[in-house]
Amino acid sequence: KKKIAVMTSGGDSPGMNAVVRSVVRMAIYMGCDAFCVYEGYQGLVTGDIRKTEWNDVRGYLSEGGTLIGTARCMEFYERPGRRLAAKNMILNGIDALAICGGDGSLTGADKFRSEWPSLVDELVSMGELKEEQVAPYRHLNIVGLVGSIDNDLSGTDNTIGAASALSRICEMVDYIEATASSHQRAFVIEVMGRHCGYLALMAGVATGADFIFIPEKPRGDNWQQDMTKIVKKHRDLGKRKTIVIIAEGAKDINGNKISSQMVVDLLKDPNGLKLDTRATILGHVQRGGPAVAEDRILATLQGVEAVKTLLEATPESETCFIAITENKIVRKPLMAAVEATQQVAKAIEAQDFTKAMALRDTEFAE
Ligand code: ADP
Repeated sequence: KKKIAVMTSGGDSPGMNAVVRSVVRMAIYMGCDAFCVYEGYQGLVTGDIRKTEWNDVRGYLSEGGTLIGTARCMEFYERPGRRLAAKNMILNGIDALAICGGDGSLTGADKFRSEWPSLVDELVSMGELKEEQVAPYRHLNIVGLVGSIDNDLSGTDNTIGAASALSRICEMVDYIEATASSHQRAFVIEVMGRHCGYLALMAGVATGADFIFIPEKPRGDNWQQDMTKIVKKHRDLGKRKTIVIIAEGAKDINGNKISSQMVVDLLKDPNGLKLDTRATILGHVQRGGPAVAEDRILATLQGVEAVKTLLEATPESETCFIAITENKIVRKPLMAAVEATQQVAKAIEAQDFTKAMALRDTEFAE
């Protein structure tokens, strides 16, 4: 029987459990044995790999976070750590792995797959494993699933967890609005997103925010005057509250950070708007809580496709990740998307927004 393992890695996101459930059950449905690797790459290095049955993932569909654990694993960055990971996989008879994580985890996955044959050779030459033991496992098949609340991966329209985080943010803004309206206050709400303003922008649209700050579209030198003018206009129209949404990576056009405190000070300015203003940094509530329907569905459909991809893979086939493009679940080349994502982050740091946007919108061949 073929053995397929699933793992969650990097920052947790709602929907990761739904991925685990989907991969485990699809693998069993296809006549394979299913395994879970616990605590991300740490579990590969330490050998925390457990056979998982259909009923073991009951209740996983809606649960937030990841029940099989995730970790940042230093050993996996080094070759000896990856060699140990290969040994543990072979000892468990596993040569197919679905990994749900962010661009870091997917980079590690690609490196692991490309090194696999030489890692196996080393294990034999070092006397760790015998030739007969490794013979059936000369190739590793890997597939990526993108678990990230930021929706920051190039080549896919959405990532698993982003819809839940966005929903959570909107819910929190709704709660804050009650107080804002009652007291005619202003609130500056900081959301996650160092290089990607998706959550801030969409939350702003969904809550009718007065002003939004995102890394991709830095405000000009006159942002203070611009914001003051708009907030004043809205107040003059009779609006009793002011909501400003700021992504944690917000900057001005000169590359200087715009912090929530700077925005608060501006709204409070005794010579300006004079608004009673508070800041709320949403932090980890954005990651928490159950997965919304959209993430459960995305995770389930992508998990099914991931197992199909693993079963159809040949030693020659390119490593894929599962994307969603124009509402279709599709396979795309993993490293092209990961590299583009990392270049987007660099371009945003370097204030080259035209390049960043072009890279983010790249449609990789399916
Ligand atoms: P994310 O997957 O959310 O981007 P990280 O970047 O922290 O999170 O990556 C998660 C784990 O993946 C790391 O702790 C490490 O074990 C592994 N990893 C990340 N990048 C690499 C790499 N370049 N080479 C090998 N392993 C990596």
